[in-house]
Amino acid sequence: MIRQNLHTHSEWDDGANTLEEMAQAAISAGLTSLGFSVHSYMPFPSFWTIEEARIPDYTRAVHRLRDEFAGTLAIYHGAEWDTLSKMPLDGYDYVIGSIHHIQARGQGSCVDNTPEMTKQYIAELFDGSADAAAEAYFAQYESLAKVEKVGIVGHFDLLTKFDETDHFFDADSPRFRAAAIRAMDALVAANKVFEINTGAISRGYRTMPYPSRALLKELGRRKARITVSADAHAASDVAFGFAEAEALAIDCGFTEVWQFDGRGFVPTPIGGGG
Ligand SMILES: [Zn+2]
Ligand SMILES: [Zn+2]
Repeated sequence: MIRQNLHTHSEWDDGANTLEEMAQAAISAGLTSLGFSVHSYMPFPSFWTIEEARIPDYTRAVHRLRDEFAGTLAIYHGAEWDTLSKMPLDGYDYVIGSIHHIQARGQGSCVDNTPEMTKQYIAELFDGSADAAAEAYFAQYESLAKVEKVGIVGHFDLLTKFDETDHFFDADSPRFRAAAIRAMDALVAANKVFEINTGAISRGYRTMPYPSRALLKELGRRKARITVSADAHAASDVAFGFAEAEALAIDCGFTEVWQFDGRGFVPTPIGGGG
């Protein structure tokens, strides 16, 4: 059983609950460690991120909670960072590198906001070519390979968020696959840990986690390091779908997940029923 979640939001960004409520929920869910991964501020106003001025208070609040829960629940101070963010990464226990914002022609768009926005950015920024959008998106992921502080690759194919109902992308097209595999190879070579992210399931957008089964199998073939995380925006979701994600990982050829221990990532066997 997986007893750690490193992908957690709270009232400090776009989560629904306080840090303390998330920690209590983690204990109730049987977790032994919890990492908070606040959304890094962006170079433009964003309702879903922390504001730059609040970072010192966020840090203090997480550290205070870490001390309060010592011996009961290990708490880590993390961040979910976008390549466009200017937020310094020093001082975080670990960093998840995630791309929520796609760039082209000097313009940008969120990739996970609404189906309408997805349709619009493919039309306006990429002349209607979903493959071209995927190439731009995965190129941004590829750039995370060079960012040393980034330990975890967040929701690698987030751009497919609405595809179970809207089918904006063809993940089997040669261009989509080549772009994804190219980014994957760079990130695996840089020894990044890929997350299996259940967040879109708990929020009702998808029935399957990120990355897709096909991409997970490619990761399995490459003996990539993986972790399982909930991308929890509410206390009820702090370990959402972990048993199913573990079963999927086993099905895709994995025998272990990598857990953060306060210093680095260590392997933990899965599938043993423990
Ligand atoms: Zn994210
Ligand atoms: Zn997140």
